[in-house]
Amino acid sequence: EKLRDLLLAHIHDVPDYPQPGVMFKDITPLLADATAFAALTDALAEACKRHGATKVVGLEARGFILGAPAAVGAGLGFVPVRKAGKLPGATLAQAYELEYGTAEIEMHADAVGPGDRVLVIDDVLATGGTAEASVRLIRRAGAEVAGVVVLMELGFLPGRERLSGALEGAPLEAL
Ligand code: 5GP
Repeated sequence: EKLRDLLLAHIHDVPDYPQPGVMFKDITPLLADATAFAALTDALAEACKRHGATKVVGLEARGFILGAPAAVGAGLGFVPVRKAGKLPGATLAQAYELEYGTAEIEMHADAVGPGDRVLVIDDVLATGGTAEASVRLIRRAGAEVAGVVVLMELGFLPGRERLSGALEGAPLEAL
């Protein structure tokens, strides 16, 4: 609970961003605080070990900032899942529904595969669409999903519910 308080103290609410009516959780104060950022990185690395991960997937863009040091801390490799069109090699793509329209994410097709247990890391679980699509990508690549770990879950949105089907029993953990 000390970790939770430390993290929460460095996450700022920004009203009406990026659109009127949205309360945005800004994690940049947490990243800028050496103690809080190190505590977060340690907790994420510990989660990698606890869930028996062999690789870390980070979701563009803040999932890169959190996932990369977590992977290094746990002695694992890091794999970026990016918005469509950003990766140079052969990719697998996964489309998902937004409130209005659709979006698409991609991963290098050979980045994970059979024998891998992949932990997905991102900053915020909102509607769950991005995390759900990443879980599907990892399975399509032939790897096992160790779980999804986020800094923060927005409990007033049905993200956990949306993600639960795709997780097939794998854990969703919010620090
Ligand atoms: P979802 O697909 O769950 O609706 O949205 C999650 C994605 O949007 C995450 O990659 C996350 O970085 C971003 N996101 C949505 N809402 C917020 C927010 O309030 N704060 C931050 N930092 N990111 C958010």
